[in-house]
Amino acid sequence: MKKIVTTALLLTCFMAFSQQKTIEQNVDALLKRMTLEEKIGQLNQYTGDNAATGPITINPNKQSEIKAGLIGSMLNVLGTQYTRQYQELAMQSRLKIPLLFGQDVIHGYKTTFPIPLAEAASWDLDAMELSARIAATEASASGIHWTFAPMVDIARDPRWGRVMEGAGEDTYLGSKIAYARVKGFQGKLGDLNSVMACVKHFAAYGAAVGGRDYNSVDMSERMLWETYLPPFKAALDAGAATFMNSFNDLNGIPATGNKYLQRDILKGKWNFKGFVVSDWGSIGEMINHGYVSDSKEAALAAITAGSDMDMESNAYRYNLAQLVKEKKVSIALIDDAVKRILRKKFELGLFEDPYKYSNPEREQKELNNLEYRKVAREIAAKSIVLLKNVSPPGREKSILPISKQTKTIASIGPLVKERKQNMGFWSVELPEVDYDKYVISQWEGLQNKVGNTAKLLYAKGCEIEGDNKDGFAEAIAIANQADIVILSIGEKRDMSGEAKSRSNLRLPGVQEELIKAIQATGKPVVVLINAGRPLIFNWTADNVPAILYTWWLGSEAGNAIADVLFGDYNPSGKLPMSFPREEGQIPIYYNHFNTGRPAKNDNESNYVSAYTDLKNSPKFPFGYGLSYTSFEYSNLKLSKNKIKSTEKIEVSLTVTNSGKVAGEEVVQLYLRDKVGSVVRPIIELKDFQKIKLNSGETKTVKFIINKEKLSFYNANLQWIAEPGDFDIMIGSSSADIRLRDSFELMN
Ligand code: BGC
Repeated sequence: MKKIVTTALLLTCFMAFSQQKTIEQNVDALLKRMTLEEKIGQLNQYTGDNAATGPITINPNKQSEIKAGLIGSMLNVLGTQYTRQYQELAMQSRLKIPLLFGQDVIHGYKTTFPIPLAEAASWDLDAMELSARIAATEASASGIHWTFAPMVDIARDPRWGRVMEGAGEDTYLGSKIAYARVKGFQGKLGDLNSVMACVKHFAAYGAAVGGRDYNSVDMSERMLWETYLPPFKAALDAGAATFMNSFNDLNGIPATGNKYLQRDILKGKWNFKGFVVSDWGSIGEMINHGYVSDSKEAALAAITAGSDMDMESNAYRYNLAQLVKEKKVSIALIDDAVKRILRKKFELGLFEDPYKYSNPEREQKELNNLEYRKVAREIAAKSIVLLKNVSPPGREKSILPISKQTKTIASIGPLVKERKQNMGFWSVELPEVDYDKYVISQWEGLQNKVGNTAKLLYAKGCEIEGDNKDGFAEAIAIANQADIVILSIGEKRDMSGEAKSRSNLRLPGVQEELIKAIQATGKPVVVLINAGRPLIFNWTADNVPAILYTWWLGSEAGNAIADVLFGDYNPSGKLPMSFPREEGQIPIYYNHFNTGRPAKNDNESNYVSAYTDLKNSPKFPFGYGLSYTSFEYSNLKLSKNKIKSTEKIEVSLTVTNSGKVAGEEVVQLYLRDKVGSVVRPIIELKDFQKIKLNSGETKTVKFIINKEKLSFYNANLQWIAEPGDFDIMIGSSSADIRLRDSFELMN
């Protein structure tokens, strides 16, 4: 048996090796036939056109450029019909090199899943891998070969609008999610249900000064390696085929022209074999940065630094040939970039069949697969975070879940009947889909849930923005008739996203005033906050008895929210970012260092590093989220309290569901290295497990601590574990540690 397995394994390795060899031979053979112009052609990417129905008239210039082999890739062409139309032009070119179709498939293609930050709150890696896989299946069935995702930028500043697109503030969680998402999107390249992943934005884009999009980043090498690069490395380890560079400068050098990032780290130290695409126009933007004086210098800087494909700058297209002629750019440099791109086209199987992914029957089937909606509903429910659930005055029980016997329910707020808002900023909008029918609104979710058993009342109350309170009276009247009020407020979908930085993170408009007015009726109130980032809502947090953070949950938002409201799904989400009390605390993150005068549990004196007018702690901490049941942690055991660096510690503990309903808990393991040759965070996530427990059930949870988990970058940028004492903390959030112990790493 063993022999058969070994032989099969060897055979698979041999086949993979020989396939790679054949691809290399094919790439070399093709390259030999290419003119310099055709080579440079492969390095350009441009945006394309779509229509709701019928063929499109492709811009005549684009048509002739594609036929002349001067374009290697298109983005924003959606659907088999249109990808085919473009590909047919490429098939009229001399060498018939197929076009690559790229698209921002960030959290779903037709089926829209929760925004990535929301999904991160599920801490459910399998669920995230599955949603990425479904997105890939739908997109690839629609002719797309390549998604510009996942975005793996660590973000500690909720003013930055793009926090909605990532996995939050933590490097460990972010790395796990990066890995899962690449596996989901890409699987095995060349399979029909897969698209190439593009890890972005390389690098440190999430650390833009002031949270202003595109802004400069100035950070130490240690911070870069320890906090910002690991998710990129994890994505690469998962096999990511492509990377996208970023708009920001890093320590004075724009990432797009940054040789250290792209050549030394990515293609050098990490041995990345795929290709790097620039961000939209980022090669040309180096002129604005003041790094180069014109498009020609921009092209030279970018190609030298390792940017292989130019998205939309026209810098390569019009300058590279001249740069080669002037011997400023070697043909070897061009060949390397071209080969990286051609290799992927071969691996995708496009040379065998350029229409491989453009099959209208498969598109029809995949884009109408209702199973995907079910998955979207489950993932959406898992992404919701229960922030608060106490009993309102005069009632014994906490408000949630809402009893199915409730007679009259008032649903109030500007987001109740919205459909498209639930799709968030980066959703794909297919021209042929009527999203005003396709997305389940919160109102519809409620109707689906209660049927005829309860009376539903509705009032809008106010708009998301503006200062008009004319609708308050009607909302109050409706609330007064109800047994319970569900208030749905928040941001508009386009308030968090690219170029959507905000200095003020309060609930926009008069929404918090609406909450106050409804709360004043004395009725039990549940507030749903829909947003793409952590917002600040202190009055609501302090006064309203039940709050669910519902982010933007996608196609099935309404159903998922109703599932949680009525207890058909017990909320299990945990915040992937700290929620500040005030904007003045930002940047705010849980895994900070201590000062010499540390703050003690918020009882700050004059001698601690704190604000004189504000606590240091966030309003809601990283890892926080409640459930309709309660979990008790006990029995922490370490297999050893002293280890050598070659040894490991087995950690075990028991978790009991001490409440009345089944639920899921994210058991979080944090470490602290007590003394380091460079200062270490006071607490750092190093592992977690999401477990499901029935009421009364107890489970043993096990973790392994090894050298890797104890390591960090020292002052010489060596990844090492230093001997000494470590604290181990296990809990339900970064601020709710239930079990503690310590151990020693020996010399
Ligand atoms: C964004 C990228 C995106 C690209 C293509 C840019 O503006 O920064 O993340 O992939 O546009 O749409």
